[in-house]
Amino acid sequence: MLPRRLDKYIADCTGLPRREIHRRLRTECVRVERPEPWPTPEPWPETLIYDDDRVFFDQRLLAPSTPSSYHIHHKPMGVVSTTSSPSGAPCLGPVLASLPRGTFPVGRLDRDTTGLMLMIDDGDLAHLLLHPQFHIEKEYFLRVPGALTLSDPRVQRALTGVELRDGPARALSARIIASAPDQSTLGLVVDEGRKHLVRRMARALDLHLQHLHRWRMGDLKLGELELGETRSLSEAEVQELW
Ligand code: URA
Repeated sequence: MLPRRLDKYIADCTGLPRREIHRRLRTECVRVERPEPWPTPEPWPETLIYDDDRVFFDQRLLAPSTPSSYHIHHKPMGVVSTTSSPSGAPCLGPVLASLPRGTFPVGRLDRDTTGLMLMIDDGDLAHLLLHPQFHIEKEYFLRVPGALTLSDPRVQRALTGVELRDGPARALSARIIASAPDQSTLGLVVDEGRKHLVRRMARALDLHLQHLHRWRMGDLKLGELELGETRSLSEAEVQELW
């Protein structure tokens, strides 16, 4: 297994929330043993734990747990991003049913938004990814009519900020993914998750959004994953998320 940060290792073994783990780490109730000839590591949250290490928590040896469920799904258009749908609209239920028990979608995409949905069974990580305080970046691709350039005043306004009914919003960065006389795709990076944020920004900017797609969440990219497909994350991808 790839090394895991000590705080994550303890969370995986005990199910305790990260804040509680950090509090306990400060009380010196954690000890890490590493085989000779390596020096004993300090029990800091970021200390990497290797396969041969032994971690004691309140004098108790922690047993490494079975890996959790970490998946990404390429959500198609017309699918609501809930686990069930009383109205009978297509939802993520069937996808989740094929994944380990307890897996849930992290956050929401609008019914007509396509793209990256993270599906995990790790409540702590979900909290971290969704909490406004942690500013996890999300990149969206906006398909709009006409040729668009970075110097377009609407793109520039996206970067300086627009006023929405629940406060100002701005993109951290923008790039042109494709530009043709009839249609362009603009990439916008935001680090908050207010409801319909990107659609509302597009409306405020007078950009006539034809399609919205989430391409990236943190360091995690959709890549070549086909529409409607799901894959598990590599250990390296999980480490990057945490
Ligand atoms: N912002 C939106 O407006 N819709 C989404 O689906 C995601 C982000």
